[in-house]
Amino acid sequence: MSRLDINTPDQAQMVVDQLYHDMERRIVASGPGLCPVDMSLNFLTLCHAQTCGKCAPCRIGLGQLATLMRNILDGKGKMEDLDVLEETAQDIADTASCTIGIHAARLVLSGLKGFRDDYIEHITHNRCLGNMEQPVPCVALCPAKVDIPGYIALIRAGRSDDAVRLIRKDNPFPVACGYVCEHPCEARCRRHMLDDPINIRALKRYAVDTAGDVPQPACAEPTGKRIAVIGGGPGGLSCAYYLSLMGHSVTVYEKQKHLGGMLRYGIPSYRFPRELLDREIDSILSLGIEVHTNCTIGEDISFDEIHKNFDSIYIAIGAHNDKKAGIPGEESKGVTSAVELLREIGDDNIPNYQGKNVVIIGGGNVAMDVTRSAIRFGAKRVTCVYRRRQVDMTAQAEEVEGAIAEGAVLMTMHSPVRIESDENGNVTALITQKQLTGEIKRNRPSLMPDEVEETRIPADVIVEAIGQGIDINAFEVAGLPVYRGAISALSNSHLSSDSMDDVFAGGDCVSGPASAIRAIAAGKVAAANIDEYLGFNHEITVDVDIPDAGLDDKTPHARVNTTERNADERKKDFICIECGLTDKGAMAEASRCLRCDHYGFGIFKGGRHSKW
Ligand SMILES: Cc1cc2nc3c(=O)[nH]c(=O)nc-3n(C[C@H](O)[C@H](O)[C@H](O)COP(=O)(O)OP(=O)(O)OC[C@H]3O[C@@H](n4cnc5c(N)ncnc54)[C@H](O)[C@@H]3O)c2cc1C
Ligand code: SF4
Ligand code: SF4
Repeated sequence: MSRLDINTPDQAQMVVDQLYHDMERRIVASGPGLCPVDMSLNFLTLCHAQTCGKCAPCRIGLGQLATLMRNILDGKGKMEDLDVLEETAQDIADTASCTIGIHAARLVLSGLKGFRDDYIEHITHNRCLGNMEQPVPCVALCPAKVDIPGYIALIRAGRSDDAVRLIRKDNPFPVACGYVCEHPCEARCRRHMLDDPINIRALKRYAVDTAGDVPQPACAEPTGKRIAVIGGGPGGLSCAYYLSLMGHSVTVYEKQKHLGGMLRYGIPSYRFPRELLDREIDSILSLGIEVHTNCTIGEDISFDEIHKNFDSIYIAIGAHNDKKAGIPGEESKGVTSAVELLREIGDDNIPNYQGKNVVIIGGGNVAMDVTRSAIRFGAKRVTCVYRRRQVDMTAQAEEVEGAIAEGAVLMTMHSPVRIESDENGNVTALITQKQLTGEIKRNRPSLMPDEVEETRIPADVIVEAIGQGIDINAFEVAGLPVYRGAISALSNSHLSSDSMDDVFAGGDCVSGPASAIRAIAAGKVAAANIDEYLGFNHEITVDVDIPDAGLDDKTPHARVNTTERNADERKKDFICIECGLTDKGAMAEASRCLRCDHYGFGIFKGGRHSKW
């Protein structure tokens, strides 16, 4: 018997570690619609097992909370139990000796606030709201509710053209989304339980890349109704598309020289080639949509005039105003905003950055797009300055990694203090102050200046990419409701005041800067409700039969990812970075889909929606 042994993981611990790992995957795969009371009981039980046990409120109280919740789930709960749950959880949160117990109690408190209806349904009817509304996870999380298992099955059957037809029923921008959608649909894909989520966005790209020219469906009989769409971005064009299919006559008014909104004046062509955007817009316009570009509503034509001349209006003007950091020296020559710069690029006015030091302020996707564009414009050194940590950046991790691989310098934990310029007013440097992380507030650390000298970053150009505002002046003056700098509209796209029931709004100008698919979904919702407002009930249908789900064995299989062109090569041009899936890759990936439309917990209730 030796006095000391080297600690080696025993068999039991290794298995427990694997179990934790598997459980993490199951948690990620918890689709929307699962019973939230049940889920929080499971979390609570886990938290209870993890307490340090030093104080009674946590050691005993969490167990009492679990018993109360179990009773409710077993149909033995009473309405008074909700008060007991709340009081007990609050007591634990107020008196537990450590944060572990406090956090567990807060979990119950936030559940009582966030899904009280589910608790009440269990108590009063012994049933679960979550299970009654059980959706297919990927479809539920795609804002436009695209029939994802359907189009994946069509791809697998070699019918990419039908896949495109099916997608267009809910989303007229399959190409744009195939290239740049942020794919919220993948977040809870049930495949997480086995290995990795299905690469839904890449499969959509494969479908559009291989489908060839897919003609648009025919429009319904003309209704004689005229609708104006203000803003020719993805939101406005989606609304225009569906209204045209319904037989209404649509006119789009667009401020810029070209249609496309931020798909053109934001997203760089190395992520979404311009010729594909042009082709997709042409296809949408082939339904007979009338377009007026270089026409700003509120300047070239008043909102009131449009209001007088059309039966209904959809406003989708996006978020195109600059936001400033508010630091001294911002007026110096050479300081610009991401919105301004990207607008110029969208109109093919390419800046000359040869040999220059370019500094970008910001940590979001827009900052990354500007950083990577500046590299392609030949800048000598491109530095991206962000005041928080890299993990706090809102940009997608692969965008940040891509920018670094292309040679960008990332300076995190540096807060801009002022901009320095020479005697002619030309910018010469950005001065920053190094930051330290502090107390965690709202789930991320607050910042405090570190005790070190300011840093001087030489700059010939500074681009501020710290957010976008909405140009609502002309609409506010015309009497539209606004709230916190955005047009105020409801989830059905009606304005939040009843003063103009023929006017609808959606997309970034209502939600604030978001994503293409959210704007597209808003345009679709608006089209349905404008149609109804005009006294119709047109249905958007598609006549595509979906292949039956097979019984094949779904053994664990890694996700098939797209690849990227080599960083050294791609940083010199604006050719698309991403290489799409090959036929073999697409078939392997499509075969991984568990067909939750047919099998399992998420099965479509009442069949699939072949129309809306
Ligand atoms: C740099 C950048 C990169 C992005 N990358 C992605 C991405 O990878 N994936 C993703 O999903 N989303 C991305 N987005 C966000 C996405 O592009 C937007 O959320 C989406 O385009 C919003 O659509 P929209 O139709 O609401 O507004 P917009 O696309 O902004 O379109 C609004 C249109 O209205 C026009 N307009 C404005 N005012 C008037 C007026 N008074 N009269 C007439 N016309 C007017 C504008 O010129 C514009 O064309 C990115 C955005 C930016 C800025
Ligand atoms: S549009 Fe986007 S969210 Fe919807 S299915 Fe396609 S990738 Fe997913
Ligand atoms: S396995 Fe297929 S149907 Fe199921 S959530 Fe994932 S993509 Fe959707």
